[in-house]
Amino acid sequence: MRVVVIGAGVVGVTTAYYLGKAGHQVTVVEKEPEAATLASAGNAGLIAPGHSFAWASPTAPKELLRSLTVEDTALRVNPFKAPGMAVWGLRFLRECNAERAVKNTLVKLRLAQYSQRMLDQIAADERIDYDDIHEGILYLYRDPKRFEAGIKKMKLVQEHGQMQDVLDADGVVEAEPFLAPVKHKLAGAIYGVTDSSGDSVMFTHKLQAVCERMGSKFLFGKGVVRLATNGGKVRAAMLHGGESVDGEVFVLSAGVQSPRVARTVGVRLPIAPAKGYSATFPVKRKGGPEMRVGAVDEELLVAWCRIGDRLRMTSSAEFTGYETTYTEHDLRLIRKLANDLLPDAAEYDKGTYRACNRPMTPDGPPILGQAGPDNLYINSGHGHMGFTMASGSSRIVADLIDGKKPDIPVEGLTLTSRP
Ligand SMILES: Cc1cc2nc3c(=O)[nH]c(=O)nc-3n(C[C@H](O)[C@H](O)[C@H](O)COP(=O)(O)OP(=O)(O)OC[C@H]3O[C@@H](n4cnc5c(N)ncnc54)[C@H](O)[C@@H]3O)c2cc1C
Repeated sequence: MRVVVIGAGVVGVTTAYYLGKAGHQVTVVEKEPEAATLASAGNAGLIAPGHSFAWASPTAPKELLRSLTVEDTALRVNPFKAPGMAVWGLRFLRECNAERAVKNTLVKLRLAQYSQRMLDQIAADERIDYDDIHEGILYLYRDPKRFEAGIKKMKLVQEHGQMQDVLDADGVVEAEPFLAPVKHKLAGAIYGVTDSSGDSVMFTHKLQAVCERMGSKFLFGKGVVRLATNGGKVRAAMLHGGESVDGEVFVLSAGVQSPRVARTVGVRLPIAPAKGYSATFPVKRKGGPEMRVGAVDEELLVAWCRIGDRLRMTSSAEFTGYETTYTEHDLRLIRKLANDLLPDAAEYDKGTYRACNRPMTPDGPPILGQAGPDNLYINSGHGHMGFTMASGSSRIVADLIDGKKPDIPVEGLTLTSRP
């Protein structure tokens, strides 16, 4: 079949890969000049099923309310900058109870675990090196009380097949000797033993090349303005400037822009932008142990990993609309983390920075599968875990297009199987 994929982030390109492999004739339409320039370029590089916890939790409303008056929260909302978010916000609040949080976490976890296997398989089959490191991820705590709460919370994913060890400060240093100089600042960590990390841009670009070798076409600098329908089916993606690309099946993987395109055929996708900040620094070579293990500071909610000879650090989730500007003030959590825990890790005066938007659903799992016209499929809304969940999501969507039963249940992932 002729399939048109809209968006060439990590999700669109993995979709193209599975469709191309299944023998379809794939055209990817991307508004930017190359693949993986938005959320897929700014992420922390963590492949982290161990971090599948839904953001909509019983404590989230308090945190968001607090963000209206104080500056130190990682999760923030500005109702003046994001006025269109009322419906999304109400749906998010509806998910903020213990029962829904558990259910949503487990849907994400199942997909993330499957997706990590698919990612590893793609990398092995296609011999893709993406500066990947398979040495686990440390979820670090400084405050003993929060650490205790983190251990309780972690049991949920542990009971569902995620290998997580509890480490005291000595154990942390054993797992990541690079942290020895700051051991006295740590209460301990939960060690996601099977989690990993890597460069999502490198992965996406190399996979694009594989797709092209299989015959897929990539049209860059072509933004889809709307979908044109006829007889209940999408017939073409209409581009800026009047061109169009026709096909038999269409997959929407346009990140935070997916709702805008879907709305042109009457499909409402509950996906909102959650802005994050991303910094990249050259690693400092100083002798001694080199940093290997990716990590998250569970109090500042700053994540980081080593990507080749660079250190990537990310912070914050702000519901402030679609803009992606940043100021020095916005980088304060990254600066604080660098100062507190990684003072010698990188050349901090040589940083490059960006802000980008995570495509968030109110409940957490992405939206996969057919929606609206019967030849329109969605693969979008992967939130804070799109690198982790892309490969599995794309395999599922490709299987659904081919009428095959996906390897894992899609309950809680399709538009119709969620509240
Ligand atoms: C700060 C930060 C840290 C993160 N850390 C992690 C992490 O450690 N691990 C993890 O798993 N995930 C992480 N994520 C999440 C992850 O990066 C995203 O979920 C993922 O990149 C989403 O991929 P995507 O392809 O859906 O979206 P995008 O990468 O945004 O790609 C969408 C593409 O669609 C294109 N597009 C949009 N509209 C149109 C149109 N009309 N026509 C044509 N093309 C269009 C865009 O130009 C873009 O290239 C992080 C995200 C952020 C912001």
